[in-house]
Amino acid sequence: MFEPDVETLPWLDQIRLDDALYRKQIAYLMAHSRFYQGKLRDAGFETAEEIGGLDAMAELPLTEKSEIRTSCTEAEPMGAHVAVPTDRIVRIYSTSGTTGTPSYIPLTAQDLDNWVTTSARSYSASGIERGEAIISTYNAGPFAAGAALGAFDRLGMCHIPVGTGNTERLMTAIRLLKPSAAVMTPSYAAYLGEWAADRGFDLQGSSVRRLLVAGEPGGGEAKLRARLEEDWGAKVTEAMGIGDIGVSLWGECEEQCGMHLGARGFVHVELIDPETETSIALADGAKGELVLTHLRHRAAPMLRFRTRDHVEIWTSVCRCGRTAPRVRCIGRTDDLLIVRGVNVFPSAIRDVVNEFAPAVSGVILIKPLAAGARQEPPLPVSVELAKDGEGTPELAETIRNRIRDMLVVSSRIELVPWGTLQRSEYKSKLVQHQAR
Ligand SMILES: [Zn+2]
Repeated sequence: MFEPDVETLPWLDQIRLDDALYRKQIAYLMAHSRFYQGKLRDAGFETAEEIGGLDAMAELPLTEKSEIRTSCTEAEPMGAHVAVPTDRIVRIYSTSGTTGTPSYIPLTAQDLDNWVTTSARSYSASGIERGEAIISTYNAGPFAAGAALGAFDRLGMCHIPVGTGNTERLMTAIRLLKPSAAVMTPSYAAYLGEWAADRGFDLQGSSVRRLLVAGEPGGGEAKLRARLEEDWGAKVTEAMGIGDIGVSLWGECEEQCGMHLGARGFVHVELIDPETETSIALADGAKGELVLTHLRHRAAPMLRFRTRDHVEIWTSVCRCGRTAPRVRCIGRTDDLLIVRGVNVFPSAIRDVVNEFAPAVSGVILIKPLAAGARQEPPLPVSVELAKDGEGTPELAETIRNRIRDMLVVSSRIELVPWGTLQRSEYKSKLVQHQAR
């Protein structure tokens, strides 16, 4: 454990500490964040005292990413929530964003240090240790994920950054430098499994014993995880963060039963119903959208930030001894499809389809006919066959029935030959809308 005293502290004691931090943070926002001064006043709060502690938090408005984006101007390109003078900012990351203009994420030296501490806790949960070598495949340069890589230095590991885009070079480095761990997206890990099989590269026999996946959901899907573990002959654990709040906020331990909150003491966690925005109590098996609040952040702190990540949470103490809650990401709220009133995440469809391996390759593409989330059945799904796999009508029918039984969604399965659907060296696209 990176910080045993912190990571095994009873959760109620953590909440007590967090409550004190939160009250200070609210006072800080009221004093320094123009965005939150306005937002909290509009909600009827004039002072930090009126706002109170964590137990009264649900009274406060949520923060949407779009509000932050709207507050960005030529004069304030990072947004009106920035709460420090420019000379205290030591780094500015960008998010790629789907809307064109990148959004900027500034950090003070302490913010950055806290991010590295968080990542060190989250990644060390996987079992990686001082003295081991780890190979990373993120082209992290301008993106917040870059800060996570600082964790490997902090942990005293030998970090071998190779970036994305040159699989040959990556595999050569694995063969020659013999790292015991590798970090990448689950999509890339799956792609490398196929790449190795095609070329007779002995990935199972390689030095890599731990595969740390992050950057998108998938590493926690049972079937995909089993396939990655077999392809690599390695244990798979996952990590998850969100640029506006912090990198690798969550990291899974060797028990493989969800990602622990590595950012405990830096970030407070809530769960809400994404439709009604009401709070959901944190308890084993609860599901909802993650809402996160910075407890100590200085440069661009967020209060009740809607992450759009839909998760299942567990609060019972883990066998590893860490007391922080654990989550599994089910999908992005933005990716949710509603098929005649039934909610379904694309990743859930992939998980069901993956039951049909080795007949299928595991790559799917959902092609909704209508724009937006709401769809009329049947939902068109392209399912890629395994190499030399045969696409019989019976197979399509069995997959269709299984999706209906498991997810209560009617689908239309199109079986496509191996190699038809696009692989990704970064993140997989599971949905392609036919109408825009
Ligand atoms: Zn654990």
